[in-house]
Amino acid sequence: MHTRLSSLSVYVHIPFCRARCAYCDFNTYAGLESLLPRYVAALCREVELAGNRWGDFSLATVYFGGGTPSLMTPEMVERVLNALSLAFCMPPDVEITLEANPGTVDGHKLRQLRSLGVNRLSLGAQSAHDAELRLLGRIHTWGEVVATVQEAREAGFANLSLDFIFGLPGQTLERWQETLEAALGLAPEHLSLYALTVEEGTPLWEQIEQHLLPAPDDDLAAGMYEYAEERLAAAGYSHYEISNWAREGYACRHNLTYWHNEPWLGVGAGAHSWLDGRRWANLSHPEDYIRALERGEMPVAEHERIELATEMGETMMLWLRLAEGADALRFRERFGVELEAVFGGELAELCEVGLLEWDGRVARLTPRGRLLGNQVFLRFI
Ligand code: SF4
Repeated sequence: MHTRLSSLSVYVHIPFCRARCAYCDFNTYAGLESLLPRYVAALCREVELAGNRWGDFSLATVYFGGGTPSLMTPEMVERVLNALSLAFCMPPDVEITLEANPGTVDGHKLRQLRSLGVNRLSLGAQSAHDAELRLLGRIHTWGEVVATVQEAREAGFANLSLDFIFGLPGQTLERWQETLEAALGLAPEHLSLYALTVEEGTPLWEQIEQHLLPAPDDDLAAGMYEYAEERLAAAGYSHYEISNWAREGYACRHNLTYWHNEPWLGVGAGAHSWLDGRRWANLSHPEDYIRALERGEMPVAEHERIELATEMGETMMLWLRLAEGADALRFRERFGVELEAVFGGELAELCEVGLLEWDGRVARLTPRGRLLGNQVFLRFI
């Protein structure tokens, strides 16, 4: 049995960046911005084809992610939004997020985006220290982050999220505390804080391999995370997901779709979708993606049917990321079986080792479980 819901979230991937950050292994390309006009036409074509099949869905959220979606002109964003509203039902309260990098937007562009209906801005800030921003290979300074936040407020953005990375090579707890204070000084509605993962093959990984930079210290990073938990709670933010904090009413609805394991459609190069009990991934290079759509073909690279047992395990893994946890009643409503009957053994063992709390009604990660989430999630997949 697969749940079919009438609302759908759409992720729009924009795989272009001005320059490649030192730690990045996302599906994104520097120096290919000239493809943007053809890419946007391809996106609109993909949306139209998807609408032919799933047009009875109403859109709950739209998320322009990347890459650097703020490299699109407002006219390009408008074309994609128009295609979406033609292909699907687009209610007036749809959450529309756009990821932006400071240095790629100004007040004029932000006002245009806001007037198109973009109502949530997610800014990649990463650090309040310019030396750390340089180490990460970011194209902006902290001064530009502050200016962009101010311009976004003036443009009417009342829902602003900032991303930061901690556990950088050589970063001290004090430096991280200063970044957090500077972030709080900007009063964002939402904060995403990620521990740096050094991905093999990235410039940062090479520098660490060659001992030009120290490897990140996991214990220190855990201390930074615990400090952030305390400091943000004191500042009135709710820690609603492992890496995400929000003021009341500002949890990211789009990402909640993922964590609730509800259906989403991903359009764009390399985007993934999860719909009708199937999961698929698009061709990852923008040229291949564009060519497929110019030929009138769906740009799908891989495709799999998800069995019920897999969906149950993945749903548990995602629900447990959230502070609300995994609810036994919701599990029964969705799958028609008792949570205890399917995962009773795993829940008991994880409680025993102190990673989970389980009272027979709701299962939640303990503070230690939040730090060692992967050890918990592996038990369900
Ligand atoms: S801006 Fe984001 S997606 Fe682009 S290279 Fe940097 S980290 Fe990667």
